[in-house]
Amino acid sequence: MGTRCEVRAFGPEVETDAALDAALDRIAALEQVLTTWKPDGELAQLNTAAANGSTCGTPNGWQSLSSELTDAVNAALSWSGRTGGAFDPTLGALLQAWGQKSGGRVPTVDERVVAQTKSGTRCLEFDRRRQRLCVRCVGVEFDLGGIGKGIALDRAAELLKARGINNALLDFGGQVLALGSPPQEPGWLIDIADPRDRDKHVMTLQLRDKSVSTSSNSERFFEQDGKRYGHILDPRTGTPLATTDQVTVIADHATDADAASTALLVDPALRQQVAKLASGMTAIALSPASNNQLECWADSSALRSIVKREATVRGCR
Ligand code: ADP
Ligand code: MG
Repeated sequence: MGTRCEVRAFGPEVETDAALDAALDRIAALEQVLTTWKPDGELAQLNTAAANGSTCGTPNGWQSLSSELTDAVNAALSWSGRTGGAFDPTLGALLQAWGQKSGGRVPTVDERVVAQTKSGTRCLEFDRRRQRLCVRCVGVEFDLGGIGKGIALDRAAELLKARGINNALLDFGGQVLALGSPPQEPGWLIDIADPRDRDKHVMTLQLRDKSVSTSSNSERFFEQDGKRYGHILDPRTGTPLATTDQVTVIADHATDADAASTALLVDPALRQQVAKLASGMTAIALSPASNNQLECWADSSALRSIVKREATVRGCR
């Protein structure tokens, strides 16, 4: 998934080493299923079939999915439903139009409108029970970049727990899963980056048995004619979000935290109902303000996990 994965764990050395190797292997195997970066991956092949005109109603319309991909598509579609489409795993054609995998470019209005007709969950039919799907729009492209790291983290954590590793910190390109805690500590310390300078930290959380995902549109972007375009798109407009906010979501499961942090950035109204979106879910949003300050919004359960904050962070007390 084009990023680093770091795991720290406490336990007897030999067993822990073997469990960590197995967890990293599990992540690598999932990447092969979920990524669209490798042409021979399962999801990439599904996109190729859709591009070649295998649509619902044609003889080869239904595509069989592995159980891993079935679960991932199911989770992604469920998050699309829960967020009123703010999270949209079918906007690959739009991401292509904006050159998100090739350095970035601003598409013409026509290009954008065409890509929008190939995006959206109305473009597919999903049959979970029979583990298959078919597409209604030629050229619809799945992109699970907004949820894949979370899925991989949840599966890796399940594997570690099954092998008796109950205290570990998994960090997958900034998305974190905290299992248990370090010895004699109430939880793992997790730093939250400054949205204006990701090498700096402005806040520290202490958490156990939770996952933390942070999304902002300044994390990955390209510039054209002096304007910045980020990697998260608003599915309603087909354009990159203009916000400079950063949203951190804390949840019991990494899959949920991952999808929700993307969705809460796209649709700020969802922040008010974050506790209803998934079990144990809570959020913190940071918005750059004047005088080098960061305006902070957090709901009450998120506040309890903040153990340190820089003076530049205003509010959320
Ligand atoms: P990161 O992967 O940088 O941690 P996110 O988890 O927020 O950030 O996911 C961003 C990725 O999700 C994008 O790179 C793209 O692949 C995909 N994406 C972009 N916009 C959306 C959206 N509105 N809904 C779902 N996925 C999206
Ligand atoms: Mg995400």
